[in-house]
Order: sequence, then structure tokens, then C-alpha cells
Amino acid sequence: MDSFDYDIIIVGSGLYGAVTAYRARQKGLKCLVLERRDDIGGNVRDKMIDGINVHLYGAHIFHTDNEHVWSFVQHFSDFNNYIHTVLAHIDGRYYHMPVNLMTFHEIFGAKRPHDISDIITAERRNEFYSCPKNLEQKAVSLIGRTVYELLVKGYTEKQWGCAATELPAEIIERLPVRTTFDSRYFSDRFQGIPVNGYHAMIRRMLDGVEFITGVDFCKERYYWLGRARRIIYTGMIDELMDYCFGSLDYRGLEFRTERVEVSDYQGMAVINETSSVVPYTRTIEHKHFNLMQERLPYTIITREYPSVWHPGCDAYYPVNNLRNNRLYAKYRDAASCIFPNIIFGGRLGEYRYYDMDDVILAALSLEL
Ligand SMILES: Cc1cc2nc3c(=O)[nH]c(=O)nc-3n(C[C@H](O)[C@H](O)[C@H](O)COP(=O)(O)OP(=O)(O)OC[C@H]3O[C@@H](n4cnc5c(N)ncnc54)[C@H](O)[C@@H]3O)c2cc1C
Repeated sequence: MDSFDYDIIIVGSGLYGAVTAYRARQKGLKCLVLERRDDIGGNVRDKMIDGINVHLYGAHIFHTDNEHVWSFVQHFSDFNNYIHTVLAHIDGRYYHMPVNLMTFHEIFGAKRPHDISDIITAERRNEFYSCPKNLEQKAVSLIGRTVYELLVKGYTEKQWGCAATELPAEIIERLPVRTTFDSRYFSDRFQGIPVNGYHAMIRRMLDGVEFITGVDFCKERYYWLGRARRIIYTGMIDELMDYCFGSLDYRGLEFRTERVEVSDYQGMAVINETSSVVPYTRTIEHKHFNLMQERLPYTIITREYPSVWHPGCDAYYPVNNLRNNRLYAKYRDAASCIFPNIIFGGRLGEYRYYDMDDVILAALSLEL
């Protein structure tokens, strides 16, 4: 018999932590979840404000092609049949996203699928780079300068916080162009929003699991390490290691939310702002995720501002360039020697961008 109070302590109550906690409980393991924020749910957390379910950390649309993941999430929530569509806004005009035949119609008057290749070929005749040296040259070579300038350049530069000519060409493999009028943002077979919200869904995953909010594992790591046989850690690895090799890079985000006294502000849930003059990347009108809430006479919107990340701020996107990937590998090697009973998981623990379905799949695959 060992003297541990728990079989597993899970650091973080986001999707990775919550799915792992659910599985641990199913297996009869004694488990504790620690969450630094004041409530559970990680970045998918939402909150009812004046009768509208507000996505607190950016618009979250559940979409997957994986039947196993889709049937797993049905245990915790019903999903509505919301199908995500997005418009890009620039210089007073709107364009369908992702780039498809409708977008080419709006920009060039294209009417038939084959018009798209004719237009791109003509654009490439003006400008083409066989060995692109940066993201801008690569994007222009793939889709032509006109579409690039309208829909890619400003958005990308805001997202990454630097000029597209300073970004490596490798960031983009390809820029998909749909040759049909299909404007659904995701082509996955299953998509929707949990009818009672993500917070309620996570709460159900944690039914019967002990959890504590407002606790930062890193501040008392040796105390917690002494209380569990194993730790599943979904926070930042560089923070856990006191940034001993320097910090990994992340992009930050700032969310500015306001109630507006009109019943419908923008006519859909998400509009991307692709102009470099507008400092935010998208406007979310939350009520459009839920038909019942659309009837309210007021609305709530959130604007997303990409920001420089500093230690101590919330980290949203890992910056997976060569330098950071190497640094992450160095941290993982060192951490496995210093903390052999810690397993790293989730988007921060593994330092990679995960969609919700991928993070659930990863948590379901973890050997417990
Ligand atoms: C703006 C934005 C929009 C997105 N939109 C979509 C979308 O539409 N569809 C989609 O599929 N995916 C989307 N995603 C991805 C989705 O958010 C992630 O897949 C998911 O949240 C990852 O879950 P996680 O558990 O790995 O991380 P998180 O949700 O970040 O959870 C980690 C948790 O650990 C806690 N924590 C960290 N350090 C400590 C510590 N030291 N002590 C205690 N607790 C700690 C954090 O507070 C947090 O609650 C989006 C992501 C972002 C940033």
C-alpha cells in the first residue's frame, strides 16, 4: 500500500482534463481535478448572460468526422443542428468564406467552377514564385494577389502580429479553394453546439469527480506531487519548469464583450475582419448559435483582438516554428527526468493546436 490520497490528479478542467477525469472515474480510480481559473471548462467555457449563452474564450463550434468522438459527446449533451458559416468583411463589402465559387463570383463575377482556374491562371501570369521565400509569396502563387490581398493578408498579419513577408512559407501547405457554391465553413459530417452550452457538458463529464477551482498547481507543485501516484498536466510545460530554458512563444487574445440594444447586430454568428486597418479579427454575435435566443430584443457581441503574449497572461495559440518545437522537445526531455510521474496532455501540455474533437480523441487514447 502506498500513502497517496489520489490515483490521479488532473491539472486543468478543459476538455482534455474533463474527458480524462470521466474515464478515470469509470475505471474506479480516485481522481482530483485542479483548475486555476474560477470555474471549470477551460477555453470552451461559456456562460449565460441576460439569456444569451456567451462563449467566453472565442466562438467554439463542435465539428468532427469521427463517429466515435461524436457518439462519446452525446453522453453529456444534446447538440443543436447549427451549421457554421462565415463572411469576411473588408472595405464595406462581404465575401463568403472559406474561399469558394461564391467568393470568386463576388470578387470577379465567376459563374461556373471552371472560371476559378481560368482566373487563378490569369493572376499567376502576373505574379508567381516557383521558390516562395515567405508566406506572402507562397499565398500569391497559390490563389493570386487579388484574393490574397482581400481575404488572407490582413487577417494573417493580425493573427501572427507581423508582416506576411516575415512569416515562413511553410506555415501554409495549401490554401483550399472550393469549386462549388458550398459555403459551409466545416465539411465534417457532424457539427453543432451543445444545447445547454459547453459548461454544462463539462459539468456532466465531471459528475462525481472531486474538483477544486482557483488553485494553481505550479505554485504548490511539490505538495500536490506528494498526494497522487500520477499527475496529468494540461498547463504550459515551460511554466511548470519555471521557464528554465526561456519561454515558448504563444499568441494571446483579448475578448471585448458588450450588450447591444438591437435584436440583430450582424445577421450571423461570426464575421471575420480581414482588413489590416481594423484591429480585431472577428466579431461574434452569440445569439445566432441558438435559434431560441435569436428572438430576444437585444444582443451580445464579442470582438477578438489578437495580442502579444507575456508570461502570466492566458496563452491561446502555440507558435509552432522550428525554434519553439525544439525548445518544447528540450522541456519534455528535462521534465520526464525531473517529474517522471507527470503526463502531459492537451493543447498547452503538448504545445500544439488541437480542435475539440482531436483533443477528445487524444484524451480517449490516453492509457490510464
Ligand atoms: C479562440 C479559439 C477558438 C476556438 N474555436 C474552436 C472551434 O470552433 N472548434 C474546435 O473544435 N476547436 C476550437 N478551438 C480549440 C479548443 O479550444 C481546444 O481544442 C480545447 O479547448 C483544448 O482543450 P484543453 O483541455 O487541451 O485546453 P484548455 O481548454 O486550455 O484547458 C486547460 C485548462 O488548464 C488550466 N490550467 C493551466 N495551467 C494550470 C495550472 N498551473 N494549475 C491549474 N490549472 C491550470 C487552464 O486554466 C485551463 O482551464 C478554439 C481555440 C481558440 C483559442
